[in-house]
Amino acid sequence: MTLTLPSFAKINRTLEILGRRPDGYHELRTILQTVDLADTLRFTPIDRGIEIVCDHPEVPLDERNLVWRAARLLNEYVGADYGIRVEIEKRIPAAGGLGGGSSNAAITLLALRHLWQIEVPLRKLFAMASRLGADVPFFLVGGSCLGVGRGDEVYPITDPQGRLETPYILLVNRGILVPTRDVYASLPAELTKPLSGAMMPLCLEVLFVHVSGHLPGSKIASSNADITSVQRLHNDLEIPVLPRYPQLREVREKLLELGAVGALLSGSGSTVFAVFENDPARQNAATLLRHDGWQAFPVATVGLERYQRLLGEVSLF
Ligand code: ATP
Repeated sequence: MTLTLPSFAKINRTLEILGRRPDGYHELRTILQTVDLADTLRFTPIDRGIEIVCDHPEVPLDERNLVWRAARLLNEYVGADYGIRVEIEKRIPAAGGLGGGSSNAAITLLALRHLWQIEVPLRKLFAMASRLGADVPFFLVGGSCLGVGRGDEVYPITDPQGRLETPYILLVNRGILVPTRDVYASLPAELTKPLSGAMMPLCLEVLFVHVSGHLPGSKIASSNADITSVQRLHNDLEIPVLPRYPQLREVREKLLELGAVGALLSGSGSTVFAVFENDPARQNAATLLRHDGWQAFPVATVGLERYQRLLGEVSLF
């Protein structure tokens, strides 16, 4: 019996570095969003061992693979040695700031919890996900989430009016390697100050903006806050990344010239995404950029309900 599941990519609509924590990590405030570019994962129980199959040359097949680590973690949790073969059909560009590996890891936790019939309390499942990587807990939930902490503490953002649905997004990538570690190591001093007690009110500020769209007197409200607006696209990681990788800056500018209403680096890169108002403008940009040697993926947002529905029997809710 084989279980086949989609493993979606994400973008960061916003990413702010709030400061450096005593444990050395950076405290983030980010809005994560799943989009409908997906790998396909096929899980087949086998007698013993963890076997990974993937045709993408940059994806490791051993214990460095996050799918392997997720399977191992669940086995350790139950003190068992269940076997699994996982075939990964990669469509999400590797190391592109689209969370491909993290997404694969989260789907593996959900799939194996179901296939191996392991009872894991939700709190424990989220803790395991967080151990695997800061973006992994988000992919247990999907849709639009506010991420705080290392980005691993996630809160779904309700979207009853569908204001966060964005149908005409273009992801562009050229396989440029931007090591995440270097990006964080080269942040400007003002973004790495030790955290002050202002952390919680800052988070609340965002929540208020989500709820009401306004927070009188706040920095965000005074810039006409609306998280659904493309003017709110913002990524602090562009500060260290764009000057070092001029190709990324150029493609971001080109996307705006080609009619995008907003364009931004996703996570630590190297994917840049752009929001268009209609499909013809997006297709035109995709054609021109492909001609220049870029990979271009037209995608739409995937909301929480659809995300969970597509996960079917392994769904969290
Ligand atoms: P991050 O920003 O979290 O570093 P990313 O979104 O930029 O990640 P990923 O696709 O998650 O990029 O891959 C990062 C690295 O993780 C890859 O270079 C690859 O060697 C390794 N990796 C481990 N497991 C996987 C997997 N299942 N799929 C893709 N890459 C994986």
